[in-house]
Amino acid sequence: MKIAVFGARGKVGSIMAAGLAEAGHEVVPIDLGDPVELGGCDAAVDFTQPDAVEDNVAACVRAKLPCVIGTTGFDRAAVDRLAQEHNVRVFHAPNFAIGAVLMMRFAAEAARHMQKAEIVELHHETKVDAPSGTAKDTADAMGGDVPIHSVRLPGLIAHQEVILGGQGQTLTIRHDTTSRDAFVPGVLLALERVRELPAGLTVGLHALL
Ligand code: NAP
Repeated sequence: MKIAVFGARGKVGSIMAAGLAEAGHEVVPIDLGDPVELGGCDAAVDFTQPDAVEDNVAACVRAKLPCVIGTTGFDRAAVDRLAQEHNVRVFHAPNFAIGAVLMMRFAAEAARHMQKAEIVELHHETKVDAPSGTAKDTADAMGGDVPIHSVRLPGLIAHQEVILGGQGQTLTIRHDTTSRDAFVPGVLLALERVRELPAGLTVGLHALL
């Protein structure tokens, strides 16, 4: 496939562009200030920043391109509306690492059996949104009423701990992303499957597994 990568010079986008090329795709890199030329592309991937997503999706829907969004913290309702209006498929996972999807699933299961829980999410200091999309979705999957603590420090990539407390015991479920390569297989899977999804925005890697 010929795939446009929005944010191709960024921390994740650069690794994604290399990973997609290694998997045999042709990559069209588009970074801030570059012309948005989507002619001949089969799909697009976005790892930019929250306020850039809507414009990038608008360019994709005009070109009738399915789009896989990795950027977190954007207005999901607006993107869903845009994609539905133009009958285009858009997929978003707040976390493309398979281990993080399993962490969310295990946390939802554990929340049914433990009294209380809190989430600590830890990310590199340049992450602009807080709390993270993964933490918010984990809290939702656990029933909603789960406080989230955000840590932003150099040296971190993306990490999350879900700590559950019960009588005389705690349970900690922790996921660590040690390299941004962790996000490549999930994006490849989403690119393979995005055309089978209903028009509009579909959220969560679990929808594809
Ligand atoms: P980053 O290093 O700041 O990269 C973002 C890149 O996008 C930069 O090169 C930036 O250019 C570029 N950009 C900004 N606006 C743009 C636009 N309108 N069109 C094209 N490119 C644009 O950030 P990152 O760490 O790679 O993270 C990117 C996003 O992915 C964040 O929202 C982060 O939370 C998310 N993320 C998601 C996952 C997941 O699994 N879903 C995993 C990791 C990160 P400039 O530097 O010139 O501004």
